[in-house]
Amino acid sequence: MPEKTLFQKIADREIPSDMVYEDDECIAFRDIQPQAPVHILVVPRKPIPSLDDLTKEDTRLVGHLIVCATRIAAQEGLGEGYRTVFNCGRHGQQTVPHLHLHLMGGRQLRWPPG
Ligand code: 5GP
Repeated sequence: MPEKTLFQKIADREIPSDMVYEDDECIAFRDIQPQAPVHILVVPRKPIPSLDDLTKEDTRLVGHLIVCATRIAAQEGLGEGYRTVFNCGRHGQQTVPHLHLHLMGGRQLRWPPG
């Protein structure tokens, strides 16, 4: 068995987290270093390393992550808007090699990001 990723350990409750949602395909929990009043990571249970590793079979799963993010945004009261981001690779500043969608909101966000 390959070693579990950090986010698989969170999914399996081996590492504690503030979980806000879970289903058969994904989990969502608060980021440990929030960059906005609401900062949640939506993570597939399947340990896909990054966007670059997606296959055609993952198309529906990625849609599911996005739909879950919109539902969580509503639950979190982000009616004024929010941002969803997949960081990818070194230039994208991805630090955890397990695909995740950032959901950020609760303040005015700036554009472009740094
Ligand atoms: P990335 O930089 O890969 O796009 O995002 C990884 C995110 O995971 C970062 O925002 C970071 O703060 C968050 N993170 C890293 N380790 C942990 C952890 O142990 N628990 C939680 N809740 N978030 C983490």
